[in-house]
Amino acid sequence: MPIALGILAAQGHVPKGSLAQYEFLGELALSGELRAVTGVLPAALKAAHAGRSLIVPRDNSAEAALVSGARTHGASSLLEVCAFLRGAVDLPAAVASACNTITIAELDLADVRGQPQARRALEIAASGNHHALFVGPPGTGKTMLASRLPGILPPLSEAEALESAAIRSVAGCGIDFHKWKQRPFRAPHHTASAVAMVGGGSVPRPGEISLAHRGVLFLDELPEYDRRVLEVLREPLESGHIVISRAARQAEFPAAFQLVAAMNPCPCGYAGDPSGRCVCTPEVIRRYRARVSGPLLDRIDLQVAVPRVPLAELGGPAASSESSAVVRARVSAARERQLQRAGKPNANLSNREVLRDCALAAGDRHLLERALDQLGLSARAYHRILRVARSIADLNGSDAVATAHLLEAIQYRRAL
Ligand SMILES: [Zn+2]
Repeated sequence: MPIALGILAAQGHVPKGSLAQYEFLGELALSGELRAVTGVLPAALKAAHAGRSLIVPRDNSAEAALVSGARTHGASSLLEVCAFLRGAVDLPAAVASACNTITIAELDLADVRGQPQARRALEIAASGNHHALFVGPPGTGKTMLASRLPGILPPLSEAEALESAAIRSVAGCGIDFHKWKQRPFRAPHHTASAVAMVGGGSVPRPGEISLAHRGVLFLDELPEYDRRVLEVLREPLESGHIVISRAARQAEFPAAFQLVAAMNPCPCGYAGDPSGRCVCTPEVIRRYRARVSGPLLDRIDLQVAVPRVPLAELGGPAASSESSAVVRARVSAARERQLQRAGKPNANLSNREVLRDCALAAGDRHLLERALDQLGLSARAYHRILRVARSIADLNGSDAVATAHLLEAIQYRRAL
């Protein structure tokens, strides 16, 4: 569109200098009509930061209007844009079409019966932004638990919601104006390719890990994913972004997602079940679990067994079934403590910050060293256990990391 406008300006159809304060984005049809394009939201953010006005196709104007403080106009044709620049007509400023209010996710934790340990782990994961793995037989509610994580996370800030919506805009996924302030939840199937997962293509587009930015990436049946797909997750799990290099160009997309994975304990699903119905040999179980690499598992702070729930508990009183709103209030308070102390969630603390903020009494230090030794855990696990212990202490409103917090954190390393 700028080229077309440049020609019109040169021919005197548009006053000289009138283009200076504007940015234009859209697809110009041969008829002169303006068609909607992808990526309008990040363009609107950039234009607003630069203090410039943006003119977009009318079908994109609601998306551009999500940026508060942006001066955006929607036009339906090139003629209309020219008339506006000549001062002959007024293009109405774009307005966000639908409610921008936060709607809490419909999926509620109150629906999950039993599983107190898994619920507790989910709460710790939410408060400190930790990755989590649920291990248990089929039908024990692993998916139900994972899908309720977005509903107990602290609400997205305006800036975070815009980042997340901008990625959807670039990916051409469309933005649901009713839900754009909710944390994303992405659950790609285990047949997903590496490109679908991390992004790619000749013109690089964001993948699932970027669409899950500021939200949750759920991988069900973790050992079923292609090993190469799982390995490419390691880098963004640490850094929070992904760089996609192609011959022609390089693109970097944000990918600060929280990973929640689920898996069966063995191929038949019943290893360790009290019914004794598992038919897998130890070697089969070992090979099945080895499909998830040690370095990937190392990065998952909370590994939780999700056993079958006794029938009596399923029909029992709702005592253990707190609603998402109640849990979210505790999570938000714990997260606030973290932001006040370190300016970031506990999972994102550097090793040096861990030693500063998660100091242990001498006896507890020995306890942790012995546990690492006995469980055969790596040095990396040392800092990771401390981060989780810090989140447990924050949920308890405690300034110091005490023995009980440490012991609970250690047990989340024992599901596999
Ligand atoms: Zn089995």
